Amino acid sequence: MRQARLVRRLTAKSVLEDMGWKGARLTRMERSEVATITMEELRRLSEIFAFPATFFTTAPVSRVEPEDLSFRAPKSTLESEKNRMAQMMALSGDFLLQLDAQHKLPPLRLTPRTDLDPAAAAAAAREQFGIGPDAPITDLTHLLERHGVPVMMRGERFGGQGLEDNHHGRLEKHLGCSAWIGEFKERPLIALRELDSWERTRWTVAHELGHLMLHVGIRQVSEEHERQASRFASEFLAPFAAASQMVRGEPSLVNLLPVKDRWGISLGALLPHFYGSGAMSTDRYEMLRKQLYTRVNTDTGFTWGRTEPGWDDRAPERPRLMSKWIEFIYGTSSAKEIALVHNMIWPGDLIVEITKGQRVASTARASTPRAAKDTPTRRPPVGDGVVTDFASYRSRERQA
Ligand SMILES: [Zn+2]
Repeated sequence: MRQARLVRRLTAKSVLEDMGWKGARLTRMERSEVATITMEELRRLSEIFAFPATFFTTAPVSRVEPEDLSFRAPKSTLESEKNRMAQMMALSGDFLLQLDAQHKLPPLRLTPRTDLDPAAAAAAAREQFGIGPDAPITDLTHLLERHGVPVMMRGERFGGQGLEDNHHGRLEKHLGCSAWIGEFKERPLIALRELDSWERTRWTVAHELGHLMLHVGIRQVSEEHERQASRFASEFLAPFAAASQMVRGEPSLVNLLPVKDRWGISLGALLPHFYGSGAMSTDRYEMLRKQLYTRVNTDTGFTWGRTEPGWDDRAPERPRLMSKWIEFIYGTSSAKEIALVHNMIWPGDLIVEITKGQRVASTARASTPRAAKDTPTRRPPVGDGVVTDFASYRSRERQA
């Protein structure tokens, strides 16, 4: 009941009123493992929450609370939004377990290394995934999913309102989060904002992988944990020893571009990566950062800090595991259909939210900008499961 209430953003007070219950009854029920209600009350609950009645007669498996999320919510984030995010992770976890029960998910081949520093942990993760120290990672999301780390997309900002893009190229910080799900927290799950930027999508996935490798069992991540996860992300995507081979002389924005292109990591991330690895002085680092945020990309009219050269070279990565498993099991990729036809304990709209942004069927179909064509003027650029149309994104950005 608590999960359903938080997911539906209902207050205890409003549920009490709607149910005609008195005093602390709801709180008591939410705190106990089992409660007895009448069939009529069950029907009303199901109606108020818009959840199938079977949801309330099925015990939840994954337990996730806001402090379990590798996510430092901005102070402005409402408690209810943090709670909702945690419960969305828990419910997504249970949904994954359900898929796993019917068709075994890829086994987890990731062993956290909380004993290592971020750079060494990044090398260890590459080894665990069978990626050589000098090999670029083509599709990071696919790599993780193959090794048993499912990824889900979020259509909305983390924490609801969240941080607005401040239009200086420094975008909201909290683009992803991760948690361990399952009865024994045995499987990781990464959630990230569905972004049009391939650079930030990959970066966010790598950053969350850093949390999973380094911060198991830590409740409430700190600034220092964030720095560690970011250090991990850079080293995981572009191991310094290999990536620095490509740069002759002092690093500059221009001679870092081929590094970006080969390793799939933004200039914005390469600067602190190379600086942190001792490849440049503080003065040079500051200068290059300033250049990044002042030089204008004539292609977009924005600074390099916001749209770097190569910003539209790749399509943003999208997860595939969940949609693939749904197709395996149910022979359809329609989340609404499986909720209706297969008597799921979750409502259709919740399954739609959980499976949002997953690639469906073939890549060819996924790259058809059909949805974008149907609604040529839609904004904002953050898609809702439809495919990114870079040309219209670009023209929208010019107008903005
Ligand atoms: Zn983080």
